[in-house]
Amino acid sequence: MRTSSSSSSANAHRFGPIDIPDSQVFCETPLSLGLVNLKPVVPGHVLIISRRVVARFADLTPEETTDLWSLAKRVGTCIEPHFGATSLTYAIQDGPAAGQTVPHVHVHVLPRKPGDFENNDEVYERIEESGEAGERLDLDAERVVRTANEMAQEARELRALLDASRGT
Ligand code: AMP
Repeated sequence: MRTSSSSSSANAHRFGPIDIPDSQVFCETPLSLGLVNLKPVVPGHVLIISRRVVARFADLTPEETTDLWSLAKRVGTCIEPHFGATSLTYAIQDGPAAGQTVPHVHVHVLPRKPGDFENNDEVYERIEESGEAGERLDLDAERVVRTANEMAQEARELRALLDASRGT
């Protein structure tokens, strides 16, 4: 794995139909990328995506599947203590009926703390809402769409975190 360089911020990556600037990519492997989130459900909620633009988990090759989950594990292991968390939620919404809003395979990785949601499974409602353009529930109004600068700043922090953890 290598973390992405901040020197090529003009380059764009594809997340389904969305152009993601290099500045919002905090790590990459030959087959996968780590992105900061436009609307994080909790602090440190990031996305691990396949580099290839495919909608469904079943579209991934075995190598892409292994790479995606290996990167998700590596990122989760780093961000859990960084965000003062003690657990992680890993989630894929695989297809529109499962709540997928961006038709590109992605693993949600969320640092979790005791009591961060009144009812633990609320996290899945929040994840489902996070891709929606409309503010369907009142809960959603609490989550803010971040600026490109805020996202780039977090990506820099996470890049440094992943760099520092190499070899550990
Ligand atoms: P899902 O509903 O499982 O498809 O998740 C889509 C995720 O993509 C949500 O967590 C959104 O907050 C996130 N998202 C949508 N647009 C962007 C974007 N431009 N940059 C980063 N994350 C995004």
